[in-house]
Amino acid sequence: MVSIEPEYGLFVGGEFAPAASGGAFETVNPATEEPLTQVALAEAADVDRAVAAARIAYERIWGPMPGSERAKYLYRIARILQERSREFAVLESLDNGKPIKETRDVDIPLAAAHFFYYAGWADKLEHAGFGPDPRPLGVAGQVIPWNFPLLMAAWKLAPALAAGNTCVLKPAETTPLTALLLAEVCQQAELPPGVVNVLTGAGQTGAAVVAHPGVDKVAFTGSTEVGIAIAKTVAGTGKKLTLELGGKAANVVFDDAPVEQAIEGIVNGIFFNQGHVCCAGSRLLVQESVADHVVDRLRRRLMTLRLGDPLDKNTDIGAINSRQQLDKITELSAAGEAEGAHRWSPPCELPKKGFWFAPTVFTGVSQSHRIAREEIFGPVLSVLTFRTPEEAVSKANNTPYGLSAGVWTEKGSRILWMAQKMRAGVVWANTYNMFDPASPFGGYRESGFGREGGRHGLAAYLDV
Ligand code: NDP
Repeated sequence: MVSIEPEYGLFVGGEFAPAASGGAFETVNPATEEPLTQVALAEAADVDRAVAAARIAYERIWGPMPGSERAKYLYRIARILQERSREFAVLESLDNGKPIKETRDVDIPLAAAHFFYYAGWADKLEHAGFGPDPRPLGVAGQVIPWNFPLLMAAWKLAPALAAGNTCVLKPAETTPLTALLLAEVCQQAELPPGVVNVLTGAGQTGAAVVAHPGVDKVAFTGSTEVGIAIAKTVAGTGKKLTLELGGKAANVVFDDAPVEQAIEGIVNGIFFNQGHVCCAGSRLLVQESVADHVVDRLRRRLMTLRLGDPLDKNTDIGAINSRQQLDKITELSAAGEAEGAHRWSPPCELPKKGFWFAPTVFTGVSQSHRIAREEIFGPVLSVLTFRTPEEAVSKANNTPYGLSAGVWTEKGSRILWMAQKMRAGVVWANTYNMFDPASPFGGYRESGFGREGGRHGLAAYLDV
């Protein structure tokens, strides 16, 4: 289904080539700890070369090209993604550890949908509400995380390209392979050289892209800590910046909620993608009168989840993406126990090799506990209770983050009231983790600023 080369170069100016220094690093399959391949390590000289290629492509080809022509390339990329979707799905599961049913049904279709959606905007920018002749910004430096490697690449590239910018993309160190396959798709679509450049590397490579004086726009998705460092680097440079950072979302279940539906939403909210989701519903706020019932149903449902081989299409929970992330989840879960919360996991045999963590539920959590405040970014749910809607809102908002939230209730008026009161960029009602390229996504406060997706997502890449 997928052939992995023994080594990969950087994608600059339409060609794959080794890093100037010859440096490389290994990417491993987190489900087995076996090496998959060697990938070039981009350093300052490579960043110079990629930014220069992007600048030339912007000035000579992509910037002046009519939107209707740019759209053709984006449609072509979208169609090739669909045609090669199985290859992408398998490669993503191998490199990231996430279950094939998620890469097959979510990551890859949504990535293609993003290219289709923004292809549609490319020749209609003057009707997008940003004035009669909105202009692109130039070269976009884009740094993305490991939790949705291809999807985040699509979120970054599609609107940037539709608006007429060229791109230098830095995928995460642990998940570079689908971004490199996407680079191959750009070649296949005959995208002009330099319009998309992919630099693989570590945090330092990302820092060099962000700081490069030839970059006009920086887009970052990742941790709040790195987001803050990037904001400092970019401050005063005139570069436009969007940050999509962490979250600690409240998923609020009222006593009139349809319980079975809510259970599915809770499971999806925190165990989808092993909980490696910035908008994960990691804090379950459940009304006290139904708390025991909801937790009991939830436990029974968790006993039916299957953890294991990401390439088995019956698998619900795959591998944790890296040893480092596993250590972080382990440490925070131990802190939850030490602080007095009650820890529970279903009986679950973990594979001997690879990085694994059983689905975990903490009850008896109080707001001061670290597991209620810090982003765990793993399959760990903290359950808190509330009595009144006011208390639910105050607990939901008791976080420095503000990316997403969920509400489960039968009353439409209560949904609207909660949505107005909760400080979150997205509020899902009687559902969770619903994504559509037409819908803007982004946060408040320490979850970042700027919106991705929809018409709003274009603003980040236009001089408006
Ligand atoms: P990071 O924020 O470090 O990584 C995101 C991206 O930024 C990666 O491509 C990374 O490269 C790159 N990067 C790292 N340092 C810099 C820098 N100084 N300047 C520019 N780019 C940089 O996330 P981690 O992978 O380290 O994960 C740490 C924690 O962050 C997780 O435990 C989780 O809590 C949270 N996180 C949140 C995400 C979200 O979407 N909200 C996504 C990922 C993580 P490299 O991969 O090589 O380090």
